[in-house]
Amino acid sequence: TFIALEGGEGAGKSTQAHRLTVWLRDEGFEVVTTREPGATKLGMRLRALLLDRDNTGISPHTEALLYAADRAEHVHSVIRPALERGAIVITDRYVDSTLAYQGAGRELDPADIEYVNSWGTDDLVPDLTVLLDLAPEAGMARVGDPTDRLEAEPADFHQRVHQGFRALAQRAPERYLVVDAAGEQGDITRQIQRRLRPIMPD
Ligand code: C5P
Repeated sequence: TFIALEGGEGAGKSTQAHRLTVWLRDEGFEVVTTREPGATKLGMRLRALLLDRDNTGISPHTEALLYAADRAEHVHSVIRPALERGAIVITDRYVDSTLAYQGAGRELDPADIEYVNSWGTDDLVPDLTVLLDLAPEAGMARVGDPTDRLEAEPADFHQRVHQGFRALAQRAPERYLVVDAAGEQGDITRQIQRRLRPIMPD
């Protein structure tokens, strides 16, 4: 079972990834908790390049390809092997982040991003994608002072990303759960648990 957590800055993806991991391990499952960008040795180096403010102004195409490269390596060396041995995989960000940030945010053609990413991942799609939906202003307030290259983007960029995530969820409601991320963390976890139970392995 492959679960992706998506959402903007400060939406609480890593908090929920941790809470779900604890719960599922308690239930006796092997859980691999991972994230993008930067889950592999190569990915750590790509992450450093992507977040480095010295790289402000790189081409949107370059940016999209570097995220796709990070993801291809992530799927190949972490996600697929874990799924093949029957583990539950929870990833903090996946393809839909690129569709939201580089597609909606940087205004690249989503069809191109989809093509590159389905090639890079050999068509691996999550069983469930959880959108932790939060207004960008609220997310930025939680994050505090911007530290990386993306957090320093202007407000309209983050608005486009937010709308991009919502549009993705509407387009694929069968694999999406949209949760109001302004709510209480325990309540958010319970909503995700309710949706996950029926698709969990025996
Ligand atoms: O989720 P995390 O904070 O680790 O992501 C690191 C940074 O990369 C964030 O600022 C996020 O906005 C950015 N990002 C991006 N495009 C992606 C994935 C993440 O711009 N496809």
